Amino acid sequence: MSRLKPSIRLGAAIFLAGCLVGTPLAGAQAEAPPALFAERWIDGTNGAEPATQVQALDADTFVIRQSVKTNFEAPFLYLMFGRDKVLLIDSGADGGQIRPTVDRLIAEWLAANKRTSIPLVVAHSHSHGDHVAGDAAFRDRADTTVVGLKPADVAAFFGISPWPDAIAQFDLGGRKLSILGTPGHQAAAIMVYDPRLKILLSGDTLYPGRLYIPVNFLGDNRASIDRLAVFARNHPIRAVLGAHIEMTRTPGEDYPHEAAAHPDEHPLELPPSSIAELRAGLRAKLDVPDQGQVHDRFIIMPVSARAE
Ligand SMILES: [Zn+2]
Repeated sequence: MSRLKPSIRLGAAIFLAGCLVGTPLAGAQAEAPPALFAERWIDGTNGAEPATQVQALDADTFVIRQSVKTNFEAPFLYLMFGRDKVLLIDSGADGGQIRPTVDRLIAEWLAANKRTSIPLVVAHSHSHGDHVAGDAAFRDRADTTVVGLKPADVAAFFGISPWPDAIAQFDLGGRKLSILGTPGHQAAAIMVYDPRLKILLSGDTLYPGRLYIPVNFLGDNRASIDRLAVFARNHPIRAVLGAHIEMTRTPGEDYPHEAAAHPDEHPLELPPSSIAELRAGLRAKLDVPDQGQVHDRFIIMPVSARAE
């Protein structure tokens, strides 16, 4: 997540269930998220913890968490290998040490695959600081492309034309990802779908936390989630994986903004039904900044208008 202004959340209004009549919310609440990870994520509760933690989804897919002790945002980053290139989604928040972790994972993958090199692409779920702060560390890396931060840069790199309506294919080599333009939370936001693992990388647009939407971009956000819902109808999704965790395991209960630790975190995984739940929730007016619409696994949080 990222709030440009350090405004304080004034208290979430409980969203009236009546607004969701006719939606699959009840079923969504009952559905448990699929468990994809063997270990508990580092959450700041255990004294010393490493600056990053890595968990593999398979031999070519790695999820990296930046420690909350290095930055309260504690973002998640995704590294996906194909035969021809490797894609890193996000470079971390200030205080992170992401490049050494990525370099190690690439070296280990190359060794396991008896290879000597593979080009790296550093792209972003969106352009907020807590997802791009590590870019500088990659600029001088050999055989590395750092994708730009403007919507036009992202659209041009992936070939999303017209932006954001078209869905682009990005082929890592034997592994074709779908790239969806999803402006709303931020103008250059994308989601990445991997048909091999049936995972949707959803950035800050959908994750177990506060889904900040500038009120002037509510329309963009609704349109993005409408397109996503159509996509999800035609593509099997096992789990939605976002870029933060800000919810506890207690339904509807989040951590305070900038919490130093996350005891009893909600899993990173959200069930695919969260997409329909978000879409239904976005039908509400949501035009009062800082008045959240609380769901069990996320909070839709309109915020004051922003430039992008
Ligand atoms: Zn963020």
